[in-house]
Amino acid sequence: MSHNPRKRFGQHFLRDHQVLAQIVEAIAPRADEALLEIGPGEGALTAAILSRIDQLSAIEIDRDLIPLLQKRFGNHLRLFAGDALRFDFSAIAPIQGLRIIGNLPYNISTPLIFHLMKVLPHICDMTFLLQREVVERLAAKPGTKAYGRLSVMVQYGCDAKALFTVSPSAFTPPPKVDSALIRLTPWRSVPYPANNERLFAQLVKQAFSQRRKTLKRVLKGEIDSTGFIQADIDPMRRAETLSVAEFVKLANEIRTRRG
Ligand code: SAM
Repeated sequence: MSHNPRKRFGQHFLRDHQVLAQIVEAIAPRADEALLEIGPGEGALTAAILSRIDQLSAIEIDRDLIPLLQKRFGNHLRLFAGDALRFDFSAIAPIQGLRIIGNLPYNISTPLIFHLMKVLPHICDMTFLLQREVVERLAAKPGTKAYGRLSVMVQYGCDAKALFTVSPSAFTPPPKVDSALIRLTPWRSVPYPANNERLFAQLVKQAFSQRRKTLKRVLKGEIDSTGFIQADIDPMRRAETLSVAEFVKLANEIRTRRG
């Protein structure tokens, strides 16, 4: 295949067959599952997956790659030409849910993950190769430097498990940073459900808007000292120390107080 990698689409194509085999091993695709790849590119991961199963769906934004992919994979690939950020994943999800995979373009990985968070009931799991730093943030525990809004919002809906790192030399052209594979598995039932998920999301956003400030200062006007007592959260703590469960407690307390 001859295609000049495009920077604006975050194109770094996987070339290392050992790494590809490791990724396929981690995904462990089965014939009775519905797999969807985001950004198949020239089809390196696609081919590795199709060596195990007969059918795969994929969405690719770069229209120049569509004929190449069609020619290479024919009917084995159900191809959607378009932007994954605007794609309605729920529309093509079978009853058992989608398994979504991809070596994601790093420039859109965070908005894409937030987009996917809206359709979690239609997803079995997601296995993504991402910038290592993003994987660390997704899987971060409270009290660590990497822990922030992305960690809380993703871990509210999913179990996040970092799998292994991949060096830049596995790609053409090589990215400037290390990559890592992560598996996000939506909880079958959310362990700490928020009474109002929008309010929860707003609270998390606000709490991390100035992460060095205490909750008392950063949430001024949202919750008073009695509210903190009711939720059993010390107002002198900072957002980065709160677990997902504690954020939910705080959001639910605010919800109750607003009536
Ligand atoms: N899967 C291939 C591989 O591993 O070699 C390519 C990975 S490359 C990092 C990212 C791929 O995502 C590119 O093919 C790029 O064109 C595609 N892409 C970028 N932005 C996209 C978007 N918004 N929606 C769908 N595909 C996108």
